[in-house]
Amino acid sequence: MELTVLGCSGSFGGPGGGACSGYLLQSGDTSIWIDCGNGTFPHLQEHLAVEKLTAVVLTHGHPDHCVDIYGLHVLLRYGLEIENMPVFAPKGLEGYLLTLVHDFGNTFEWNPVGDGDCTKIGDVTLNFSRTQHPPPTYAVEARADGKRFVYTADTGPDWTVGAFGPGADLVLSEATYLHHDRPAPIHLSARQAGEAAREARAQRLMLTHLWPLNDRDATAKEGAEAFGDAVTLATPDLVTVI
Ligand SMILES: [Zn+2]
Ligand SMILES: [Zn+2]
Repeated sequence: MELTVLGCSGSFGGPGGGACSGYLLQSGDTSIWIDCGNGTFPHLQEHLAVEKLTAVVLTHGHPDHCVDIYGLHVLLRYGLEIENMPVFAPKGLEGYLLTLVHDFGNTFEWNPVGDGDCTKIGDVTLNFSRTQHPPPTYAVEARADGKRFVYTADTGPDWTVGAFGPGADLVLSEATYLHHDRPAPIHLSARQAGEAAREARAQRLMLTHLWPLNDRDATAKEGAEAFGDAVTLATPDLVTVI
């Protein structure tokens, strides 16, 4: 598998092309856009011809994870004339997104996701786990080629990556805050992200959903100390082989 970061700013877009949450996960001919945060669609188009997109996964309905689906809708419907793009999203999210548009026509095929659900998209098997975050939010585990990737989506510390079992090859964890300034238990600090990944014996850890006002070096240092090994900080257009 290969992971491309399309955006990694936590909760609001940062300066200098700092798009919000979005990732392109690829295995063979399978290309899955996980989270369509604001600013990620332009980055997606730099890495993939959109007609080759296999499916979309939305972890939850916060705008920084889903609003660029409107741009995808316009391109698919009026530009490429592609219908029935599979979208995997929490139950009810389709209706929530429809409050801003008249309708999506036949652009999308909506597949509701719930806790513990498993589905196969092309070469990739996906599992979903409900995290600690106010709207229904699902972390994603992806398996292909004997490798395992886990993305926390947004979560507080009462859900951990260990929910998918130990030893993931790559954990992509939100790390919105530095530990001393975390304001609410609906996100993780870099320390909490590192501790959870260490306890789950993750092979590698990448930190994302980074609060743009925070110092990146401080986030990396705090995360690495807790993880017990070096961590990677997500940055737009970073490509990682899993
Ligand atoms: Zn978020
Ligand atoms: Zn959120």
